Amino acid sequence: MKDVRIETKCVQGGYTPGNGEPRQIPIIQSTTFKYDTSEDMGKLFDLEASGYFYSRLQNPTCDTVAKKICELEGGSMAMLLSSGQAASFFSIFNLANAGDHVVASSALYGGTYNLFAVTMKRMGIEFTFVDPDCTDETLENAFRPNTKAVFGETIANPALTVLDIERFARVAHAHGVPLIIDNTFATPVNCRPIEFGADIVTHSTTKYIDGHGVSVGGCIVDAGKFDWMAHAEKFPGLCTPDESYHGITYAEKFGNAGAFITKATAQLMRDFGCTQSPQNAFYLNLGLESLHVRMERHCLNAKKVAEYLESNEKIAWVNSPALATNKYYPLVQKYMPNGTCGVVSFGVKGGRKSAEKFMKALKLIAIETHVADARSCCLHPANATHRQMNDQELAAAGIPADLVRLSCGLEHYEDLIADIEQALATL
Ligand SMILES: *Cc1c(COP(=O)(O)O)cnc(C)c1O
Repeated sequence: MKDVRIETKCVQGGYTPGNGEPRQIPIIQSTTFKYDTSEDMGKLFDLEASGYFYSRLQNPTCDTVAKKICELEGGSMAMLLSSGQAASFFSIFNLANAGDHVVASSALYGGTYNLFAVTMKRMGIEFTFVDPDCTDETLENAFRPNTKAVFGETIANPALTVLDIERFARVAHAHGVPLIIDNTFATPVNCRPIEFGADIVTHSTTKYIDGHGVSVGGCIVDAGKFDWMAHAEKFPGLCTPDESYHGITYAEKFGNAGAFITKATAQLMRDFGCTQSPQNAFYLNLGLESLHVRMERHCLNAKKVAEYLESNEKIAWVNSPALATNKYYPLVQKYMPNGTCGVVSFGVKGGRKSAEKFMKALKLIAIETHVADARSCCLHPANATHRQMNDQELAAAGIPADLVRLSCGLEHYEDLIADIEQALATL
């Protein structure tokens, strides 16, 4: 689906039924697929023919939904995974081995930071974290001869920093490595990182793409543009024969457009099995069908709420990339001119105690660790996800003790503002 707008791709991308076939995507609830001869099956195992044999590796429903997200991001090939965490892990582990190194933005989702800094470090992969606003010189200095990738988030969760994707892509490419972008918060409706030089795009589809708090999932999209063979000495996994597939060299056999996802499916999905279920992929597709409509409302609500908070004397500070006063506004205009995301963070005057009292008084807005849901929700990290830290440690982590993270849902913004107003009145 090429010559249509992003809205049309959200609704009809990935699947074009033939005559008399189901209008909605079929859920292929089957672990296995039948073949007439062992030779037929053997060709699939050797990656000589494409087709399905076992749903741990590939399933038609999941592939249909991956194809839609691939079209939305403007990529060459994509795969669904069981979670955003699995997508982040695969995106790095498909390129880096023990003894390798990765440069990552320090403004990351907490789960991603832990995966990189603790768990993948134990696997022998080292990360250097750089401030997304660092100078080119600091960014350059983070690279080592064994660096295999650069990783960052379009809009970071929960810091809400905005990454200069073109700058990070330029520096990554100058060092012969791909740029991986976690595009969860912006979604392909608001930003398509591949258009700005990103090579691999990842998603926690659990957030806006699902959008209804229904299913945990992840996705990886390959732009298909990175020339692996031109940097063959850095990427032996893609550029030398894979003994577990009779000596296939992915970059040779599948080219720049297919090597990354084919390897991630054939090796990593085979061995780790972080598989999306066909039923959840179906739910994901329902979310995708309205993503463009919902993002517009999430963004409108966040803007209205942020503007209200900014003008309220009981509020100490407001952080939202949607505000014209935000320090990232110039980057927002370049990368996301139509909108950013529905998440806003702010501080209530009076610090931690006031934040607690304020949140307890909210009626429509629920306290949850989730974001990007149709229903508005909020979190006080100092009292939840970062509870073990004292006020000094929180400040060092860039999470002030008074920070409230508010994810604006799809309700009417005047009702959200009224709820915030009555809760502030209790202070
Ligand atoms: C939630 C989130 C993840 C992790 O995704 P899960 O689906 O919860 O595993 C990764 N990146 C970002 C930006 C997220 O918000």
